[in-house]
Amino acid sequence: MNALLDAALGYAARGIPVYPVHWPHRTKGGASVGCSCRHGAACDRSAKHPLVRHGVNDATTDPAQLEHWWRRWPHANLGLATGIVFDALDVDSPAGLAPLRQLAQAAGLRLPGPVVRTGGGGWHYWFAPTGLGNRPPHGLAHVDWRGIGGCVLAPPSRHASGGTYRWLVGLDAAPLPEVPATLRALLDPDQLTTTQPTGPARPIAPGHPYGRRVLADELAALGRATPGHRNHTLNQTAFKVYRYVASGLLGDQEVTLAFTTAALAIGLDPAEVGRTLASARTAGLANPRGVPAGSTPTKGDGV
Ligand SMILES: [Zn+2]
Repeated sequence: MNALLDAALGYAARGIPVYPVHWPHRTKGGASVGCSCRHGAACDRSAKHPLVRHGVNDATTDPAQLEHWWRRWPHANLGLATGIVFDALDVDSPAGLAPLRQLAQAAGLRLPGPVVRTGGGGWHYWFAPTGLGNRPPHGLAHVDWRGIGGCVLAPPSRHASGGTYRWLVGLDAAPLPEVPATLRALLDPDQLTTTQPTGPARPIAPGHPYGRRVLADELAALGRATPGHRNHTLNQTAFKVYRYVASGLLGDQEVTLAFTTAALAIGLDPAEVGRTLASARTAGLANPRGVPAGSTPTKGDGV
């Protein structure tokens, strides 16, 4: 039995459309490895481009079609359509992992789901689909998002460099996680710009009206920070707000998301934002603050 076909049928059984991709092919005499296409060693997308005319648009979950393809091309790599059963965070090299790790320090961002080590020295983190298309996360170099209309190669495909795609954390070991809010903010920065200082702040639920007002005020202060003072202002304003998270007036995730979005919008570096928010959060959570006596509640908020 062909391990590639086996894997293709396995993905299809999970509802993931599969299509055949060129594979690394030893050139005549075996001196070097090239692409299985007619360009051989000169191919510039070696072992990564589709064998079928419409690429990912030809992907299918039909077992008969998959058997037909892998009978015809038994060595074909496996291309999977993203955006349907899963999305993937595509980290192309260790250079892409470093800023992601720094960002992860904010709000305990974890990438807990299935992970593929790619044959080319990168990583694919699988998530539940977001409904977003392909795009690079805001401010993260060497990282891409594969969503609707996108594709990734999957184990046990082989890379032109000789490496094999393999599971570090398999599909059965972990359910597909939702995208953490901090990462989602980098993928879809426009979605939350309504929490920005201009105009009435969109209510962030759950949250106490007093906490929401503090959050809006501090986000406004952050928006007014001048270059050179922005990181310091982020630290100060986030610290104040996390104190209300500690007393239960605001949600941890909501606050982190709002500050991440606002800080990126004023041009702070994502890794710096991650570090600063992590520190402000630790300090704020250790110093809870409640609604001060004599504060005027907003009409209709029932407090
Ligand atoms: Zn080729």
